[in-house]
Amino acid sequence: MKLSIVIPCFNEEQVIDEVYRRLTTLLNSYVEGAAIDTYEVIYVDDGSSDGTLAALRRLAGKDKRVKAISFSGNFGHQPALTAGLLYASGDMAVSLDADLQDPPEIIGEMIKRFKDGADIVYGVRDDRQEDTYFKRATAVIFYKFMTLMGVNLIYNHADYRLLSRAALEAFKKYGEVNRFLRGMFPSMGFKHSIVTYKREKRFAGTTKYPLKKMVSFAVEGITSFTNFPLRLAFVLGFVNFLAAIILGLWTIASKLKGSAVPGWASIVLPIYLFGGIQLMFIGILSEYVGKIYMEVKHRPVFIVKETYNFDDGQGKSP
Ligand code: UDP
Ligand code: MG
Repeated sequence: MKLSIVIPCFNEEQVIDEVYRRLTTLLNSYVEGAAIDTYEVIYVDDGSSDGTLAALRRLAGKDKRVKAISFSGNFGHQPALTAGLLYASGDMAVSLDADLQDPPEIIGEMIKRFKDGADIVYGVRDDRQEDTYFKRATAVIFYKFMTLMGVNLIYNHADYRLLSRAALEAFKKYGEVNRFLRGMFPSMGFKHSIVTYKREKRFAGTTKYPLKKMVSFAVEGITSFTNFPLRLAFVLGFVNFLAAIILGLWTIASKLKGSAVPGWASIVLPIYLFGGIQLMFIGILSEYVGKIYMEVKHRPVFIVKETYNFDDGQGKSP
C-alpha cells in the first residue's frame, strides 16, 4: 500500500524544511506501524520567486521519496494541486497545504477511513479560530451562497483530503480547464467520510491568498459549477416583463382618462431600472462567455518545467 502526499507551494521557503521534517517523522511512523508500506511526497512549486525550488531540489537530492514538480510560472493553487494529483502513483493520495495549517497528524485517521472503504475522505475544520474575522465571515457567506445555488460543497472543507486510486483515476477524466476542486470531488459520487481537525496558525510566512485571489476563487467556484445566476437572470427578466405590461396598461389607461402629466420621473426611472438590470446580467453573461472562451481554447491547466525523482517509472508524466 503506497501513500502519495501532494503539497502545492508558492513562495513557501520558510516552511518547506519544517513540513519535510514533520511529514518524514509521521510517515515513517506509519510505515513502521504497517499502516502503509511506502510513500512519496510530491511538492509542486507553483512558480515561486523565492528559494522554494532550491529547497525542494535539495530535499529531492537527499531523499528519493521526495518528488518535486516545478511549474514554468504561477498557475495558482488549484492547478498546482491538479498536477500533484495527476502525478501521484500511490494507492491513495492526500493533498494538504504547505503552511502546516492542516495538521498532518490526522492522515493516519484518513488512512483508516480509506481502509474501511471510503474512496474520498474530507478533512473538515471544526473551528476557524486561527483565521481572521474577515476570512471567517467571507467563507461562511461563500459556503451558504454556494449551497443556496445548489452546488454540493462540504462545509468548512478546504483542500485537505484523501483520494483513493479509483477517485484519482476518475479525476483524470475531468478535462475542464477551470478547476474548482472542492466542488469537483463531491460531484464525483463515491463513498466518502469526514475527519474533523482544528486548523492551526500558519507555521511561517504570510497568506498566499490575498483578497484578489479569494474573490477570483469564489467567482471560479460559482461559474464553474452552477448556472443558477443565468437562471436568476431569466426569472428577474420575466418578473420585469410582467411589471412592464402592468405599467404599460396603466400608462395607456391614464392617457385615455386624460390624467397623464408630462412626467420626467416616469420616463427616467424605468430607464435607470431596466438599464441597471440589463447591465447587471450582461455582466453575469460575460462571466460565462469568458468561461466558454477559456474552455474552448483548451489551454493547459499547468506547464511543468522540470521534475525531480520521478525517474523510477512510476508517476511519470500523466
Ligand atoms: N498556493 C499555491 N499557489 C498560489 C497560492 C497559494 O500553490 O498561487 C499554495 C500555498 O503555497 C499553500 C496553499 O496554496 O500551500 C494555500 O495557500 P495559503 O496557505 O496561503 O492560503 P490560506 O490558508 O491563507 O487560505
Ligand atoms: Mg494557509
